[in-house]
Amino acid sequence: MSQPTPASVETLLEALPYIREFHGRTVVIKYGGAAMGDEELREAFATDVVLLKYVGLNPIVVHGGGPDITDYMQRLGMEVKFVEGLRVTDEQTREVAAMVLLGKVNSDIVRRLNRHGQPAVGLSGEDGTLFEVTPVANTEEVGFVGEIERVDVDVLNHIAEDFIPVIASIGVDRDGSPYNVNADEAAGKVAAGLRAHKLIFLTDVEGWLADPGDEGSRISRATVAEVEERLGNVGGGMVPKLRGCVEGIRGGVQYAHIIDGRRPHSLLLELFTDGGVGTMVTP
Ligand code: ADP
Ligand code: MG
Repeated sequence: MSQPTPASVETLLEALPYIREFHGRTVVIKYGGAAMGDEELREAFATDVVLLKYVGLNPIVVHGGGPDITDYMQRLGMEVKFVEGLRVTDEQTREVAAMVLLGKVNSDIVRRLNRHGQPAVGLSGEDGTLFEVTPVANTEEVGFVGEIERVDVDVLNHIAEDFIPVIASIGVDRDGSPYNVNADEAAGKVAAGLRAHKLIFLTDVEGWLADPGDEGSRISRATVAEVEERLGNVGGGMVPKLRGCVEGIRGGVQYAHIIDGRRPHSLLLELFTDGGVGTMVTP
């Protein structure tokens, strides 16, 4: 009689077709919110990204860091204000935001990836002129908040050959003045610019919910057309994510996912197991 296959081996066998499919493919990961808020989740995230690189994928991390910026602003006694979800960013705020995003959040991610065995390189939209921005329409009200006009992925292609790029969502305008950029928008545009295979948003809900008050109402799959049709009824932080999905797919990304970053190793679950998690957006 043959021995039963141990569960650990079953898991590896389940992953094999996915590892084969994704080998050499680029996956852009928007990292933020819940998955960043807790030490165990930060470690799990770093382990997952390093594992992706080891098995032959090409992971690119794009991150925000809103809660940390708010925390440091409060420590400095600065006023924190939002208008329609955008942080009001005067000169001082812009300076603190850049210091926190690059000096703290970005370098923490890089350090963890390095420690887990895959060297990472931290950069922002200023490096290699990655993101060129124009001020958002209501710049009078919100200050230095930019919309990405142009993405130059050249620098990423160079870095990603040997390292994991970790990108802070800061852009510069034509005159070289830095602007705050929404990290979801940045992730969508990077994924489109690279024509990534997948774009994955880690967030603090199970996915896109038909009813935001009901966690049981997750939409497991939607086409770009369905997303656009329903975008008017979506609110809060889900809007830039869904826009990012649309932007990515219009730019040639095959699949965009919004998954629950509160769950440790949700990235591995999404990529290497049969049971899909979160919301998947397809062309
Ligand atoms: P992140 O830090 O991951 O960007 P955000 O708070 O910006 O998180 O965005 C996720 C939030 O979007 C959810 O926690 C939820 O409050 C809000 N949201 C609004 N509408 C929806 C919806 N239809 N489905 C899911 N989340 C929604
Ligand atoms: Mg957000």
